Amino acid sequence: MEDSTAAATEALVARAAERAGDLARELSAWSAGAGRTLGDVEQRALALAKEFGQLLLTGVCAVLAAGEPAREQPCPCGAAARYVRQRPAQVLTVLGAVSIVRACYHCPHCRRGYAPLDRRLGYCAGSTSAGLEEVLALLGATADSFEEAVALLAKLSLVQVCPNLARAATERVGRVVQAAEQRTVAAAWGPGTLPTAVAAPRQLYVSMDGVLVQTDQGWREYKLGAVYTTVARPSRQHPGQAEPHAQEFSFVGDVTDAATFGQVLWCEAARRGVLTASEVVVVADGAHWIWNVVAEHFPGATEIVDWYHASQDVWSVAHAIHGEGAPLARRWAKRRLADLWEGRVDKVLAAFAAHRQRGQAVEEAITYYGNHRQRMRYADYRARGLQIGSGSIESGCKQVITARLKQAGMRWSLPGARAVAAVRTRLKSARWPEVMALRPPRHRTYRRQAA
Ligand SMILES: [Zn+2]
Repeated sequence: MEDSTAAATEALVARAAERAGDLARELSAWSAGAGRTLGDVEQRALALAKEFGQLLLTGVCAVLAAGEPAREQPCPCGAAARYVRQRPAQVLTVLGAVSIVRACYHCPHCRRGYAPLDRRLGYCAGSTSAGLEEVLALLGATADSFEEAVALLAKLSLVQVCPNLARAATERVGRVVQAAEQRTVAAAWGPGTLPTAVAAPRQLYVSMDGVLVQTDQGWREYKLGAVYTTVARPSRQHPGQAEPHAQEFSFVGDVTDAATFGQVLWCEAARRGVLTASEVVVVADGAHWIWNVVAEHFPGATEIVDWYHASQDVWSVAHAIHGEGAPLARRWAKRRLADLWEGRVDKVLAAFAAHRQRGQAVEEAITYYGNHRQRMRYADYRARGLQIGSGSIESGCKQVITARLKQAGMRWSLPGARAVAAVRTRLKSARWPEVMALRPPRHRTYRRQAA
């Protein structure tokens, strides 16, 4: 350690020790006031701890900046930048605002100013620290609104910022996720490399669905994809039997066309080991775009149309024949559902066809069953322990999109909705540390003439 650094460290130690003593005395005296509860004291202690943290943070930065500044520093442009003077940089951190005095340089070649310490510590003067950015993005993506996010921050760490700062931080992280996905797709479909598989499951589930989001460009469909595995668990409905329980979810999605979405989903499936899995199972509703994506990217998958959607058609036909709420409708539907459950799709289809004259609902059911009969072999799927419901992707849509993007009265800018949704897909995939590691370095140069 250089002498100047050692001296600056000792000075900080002395200052910190003195201030710690003062704060302890102050808290002690304050707490002795009449009627103070532990809740009061803990709030006060938090405020003082924050103040002490600021002192440490500012002090350590001063230690790191200690020593005679070099007269010249290599500029990022390659030329030599000259020392100008010491200037303070304000940075907003999770401990509040700190002021960091550091050496600033000016490059006569590119005519830009820069501070080597900013680059070394990865912050931008006049901006938020990486730590505060992370907290803001986390709160911005998980709280009901950006207003609520900053209210939570104020409560938890006593740092006051405006909601727009939370919005900006969340959207920045969202753009990091979007850029990473684009790079992955470009590498997989271009002259790059396929995604590295993080697991080698025997069986992998893929599902997808669309959910509408209100944006400044009208209602737009957000396509969400889920990749997961299942584990057999004792059934609650049928004691003594096991049923598949979905686990290890990861999500991708965007407001985009099916072709682009399909590429991103395939990359995620590849990361989850789709290339080595001995079986890929797709469970989804009957939307055309879904099965087009499956045909394109998951050929050979076991295709299953969600049991609930298939059974809804049985009910609508039963109602068309016997009238809604009629006991006979119920009886008719139960029989057909039993056939469907036991894998007798053709029998169900024949029962529909016998009532063709009953109108559009019956016609639609016949078309649906005609298109998807090969995806309705429920007895076979059940015997193999496969999941036959799309509840996993539906609850995924609720968790990833509805819970944050469809709060009452919410209307998003389209880029804002896409970015926040991107953050949530990673959060709900337990991939947050990965996203944080993807963030670009934070520093900047200043277009400013030397004084
Ligand atoms: Zn330069």
